[in-house]
Amino acid sequence: MEESEPALAVAANPELTEVVMSSAQLNALNASLVSLGSHSLTHPPITRLDTQWARKEIEDSRRRLAELSGREIIDFSFPYGDHDASAVAMCRAAGYETAYSVTAQEVDTTCPELLRGRTKVEPSDGPIEFFLKFNGAYQWMGDSVPLRKTMRSIFGNQAPGIRVQPH
Ligand SMILES: [Zn+2]
Repeated sequence: MEESEPALAVAANPELTEVVMSSAQLNALNASLVSLGSHSLTHPPITRLDTQWARKEIEDSRRRLAELSGREIIDFSFPYGDHDASAVAMCRAAGYETAYSVTAQEVDTTCPELLRGRTKVEPSDGPIEFFLKFNGAYQWMGDSVPLRKTMRSIFGNQAPGIRVQPH
């Protein structure tokens, strides 16, 4: 990927113009009910960045979110789930305790591993679907990731039904 400052990446990526929450809104969240985690500065696929930029995305997003929220930030999720061993090591060095991929995985708050999977939930999920997701009913999807990646490399993203969760 071409070397550029994250600020330039913001200008080039319309996804980054989305206003999610203000600092005041973050501070108003009940810390006993809602935890906050970082998702990078500019939402790039981390493994496509050079080491210096990847480290900046991982470290600076943690620091800035801590400043904005007044909380310690210990969770990171990789944009698009894109990660490798180097990116995981950068998360560990930055002080994160957990780094999430997009591999569907049962929720286990006692898991000691830094790298974990996650299952996307939507406001439109009903109580049964939320229960199923929370209890690992979608874990088989994580097991199919290598096959889906192979299919995508052969057929591209145009093939129906092989797209991985985008965030
Ligand atoms: Zn995302």
